[in-house]
Amino acid sequence: MLEHCTLCPRQCGANRTAGQTGFCGADDKLRIGLASLHHWEEPCLSGTRGAGTIFFCHCSLGCIYCQNHNISGQSASECGILTDSSGLADTFLSLQARGAHNIDLVTPTHYAAHLIEAIPLARTRGLTIPIIYNCGGYERVETLRMLDGLIDIYLPDLKYYSSYYSERYSHAADYFDVVCAAVNEMVRQVGAPQFNADGMMTHGVIIRHLMLPGLNGDTTQVLRAIASHWGSEQVLVSLMRQFTPCTDLSDFPELARRVTDEEYTAACDQMTRLGLAGWTQDAESVSESFIPHFDGTGVAGACSAEPDIT
Ligand code: SF4
Repeated sequence: MLEHCTLCPRQCGANRTAGQTGFCGADDKLRIGLASLHHWEEPCLSGTRGAGTIFFCHCSLGCIYCQNHNISGQSASECGILTDSSGLADTFLSLQARGAHNIDLVTPTHYAAHLIEAIPLARTRGLTIPIIYNCGGYERVETLRMLDGLIDIYLPDLKYYSSYYSERYSHAADYFDVVCAAVNEMVRQVGAPQFNADGMMTHGVIIRHLMLPGLNGDTTQVLRAIASHWGSEQVLVSLMRQFTPCTDLSDFPELARRVTDEEYTAACDQMTRLGLAGWTQDAESVSESFIPHFDGTGVAGACSAEPDIT
């Protein structure tokens, strides 16, 4: 898979085993920026003890406003902690031992080949908690099918309806159509949302939509599309307002502000009118303190026999 990589819709064909990198910036080495308990995911994912979040380096989408740009940028070839599939499996187990309700894989697309090894390995070593695939939504159906049976919860973004915006901000004019096909496959694999007795999600799909300043019309189209394609029987919606300008947006001055209360309230009202179930965010969540520090904490190193977390 990595000798001619087509894991994501970019289908670069990079020979990652020879050290080549494609759009995502990843070679065949597994790099992780942080593995930690995270308390700011949706309540049915964070619970009381936190989601076991693993932030992967690099990204196949490359949004110009990314709040995780320190580890996602294409030039970040030296970022994070280097590990392998076995080390990743140990990292899962470390998070489980610390009380994580689940394993929350953030931006995992370009590491799908590693996940196909690491998840079964972790299960044989005693991993019992659900696995979340937390992604930008820009996924190939063929790659998702390789993960069928390994993922319990899909957490894709649906960032844009308009191809103008998806090209301008994420270099992906085909974004909306690609995400729709991907979410169809995700729903096929994991079915309608299910919860355990404690209210924690065990299976299902949550679609996240991060509002961008001034793109109210696009948000309207996204919410309508979710209602008409899947509805609340098949997916839940997380409507997010935490956009914070934290990259150089001098070429995109329209994004150099936060979403206003009026913009967000209008979108929440529309979500209600469309009968979509899910979550909205408090104004307090609009804080840079929610952006983690990617110092490699919590990652079990390559070939380590034991997790390095105590
Ligand atoms: S995962 Fe990376 S190398 Fe593979 S096709 Fe996508 S951008 Fe190219």
